[in-house]
Amino acid sequence: MDSTTPSLAGKTALVVGIANDHSLGWHIARRLAAAGARVALAYGDERLERRVAPLAESIAAAACVRCDVTRDAEVEAMFATTDTALGPRLDLLVHSVAFAAREDLVGEFPDTSRAGFAMAMDVSVYSLVGLVRAAGARLEPGASVLTLSYLGAERVVAGYKVMGPAKAALESTVRYLAEALGPRGVRVNAVSAGPVRTLAAAGIPGFRELLKGHAEKAPLRRNVTAEEVAEAAFFLLSPMASAVTGEILHVDGGFNILGV
Ligand code: NAP
Repeated sequence: MDSTTPSLAGKTALVVGIANDHSLGWHIARRLAAAGARVALAYGDERLERRVAPLAESIAAAACVRCDVTRDAEVEAMFATTDTALGPRLDLLVHSVAFAAREDLVGEFPDTSRAGFAMAMDVSVYSLVGLVRAAGARLEPGASVLTLSYLGAERVVAGYKVMGPAKAALESTVRYLAEALGPRGVRVNAVSAGPVRTLAAAGIPGFRELLKGHAEKAPLRRNVTAEEVAEAAFFLLSPMASAVTGEILHVDGGFNILGV
């Protein structure tokens, strides 16, 4: 562990949304474990178990559980598992989940179906509220919640389609949760990450061009790495950010500041 960064020894963490070793959630989980936290992982689809189980093993995760965040019973069952594995207190909760139906990403935005819009909102936005709600009193004073957003929340990004309004709602949800949980001493923040090659990103039409354009135009003239996203997430989750809540921290090489 780096002696210049705070230890998370004695802290418990649940990271929801790990598909494979490219997942931003995985990089965050690994960073938290490296700092000494006891970490539980959750993945959405049982077909992913064979990919996620070895990752869990590699960081000696306290639990590795399947949970579809759209099903309240599965969310409850996940917390029952973490109660056993981590104890009744949850210090760090990471939401790294998003989904939009393929047809709503390849089609024209005005053709987004009612069902597709609702599904993107349910999986990518309400799930954060649902997790915080189900976590309830496990989040004690000093606890910290983090989610992942993208520039498509604030600007039109070709190809992002229905995920744009979903991320805008997610960022607003961060602020409302931060205000609601602040009096309990619980912080809620987001990292708005630049594009990183992952399974979810692969579903976005033109993602390759997005990466190329980002590297060419971002003030730092490169793309960001999953490790850099995880480092910023670690900062927001850790006591280093003890006075930071309701914040959307861009980790994008400065791309978001650009105008024409
Ligand atoms: P990823 O590895 O594919 O992670 C997305 C996760 O969401 C997957 O584990 C997926 O599981 C999970 N998920 C989807 N529907 C779910 C459901 N109903 N219940 C439980 N889990 C579900 O991709 P990622 O890029 O790391 O994405 C993580 C977060 O970072 C997302 O919020 C994404 O929008 C955000 N983000 C990504 C980028 C980027 O460029 N990669 C940039 C900015 C923000 P299943 O595969 O099992 O459905």
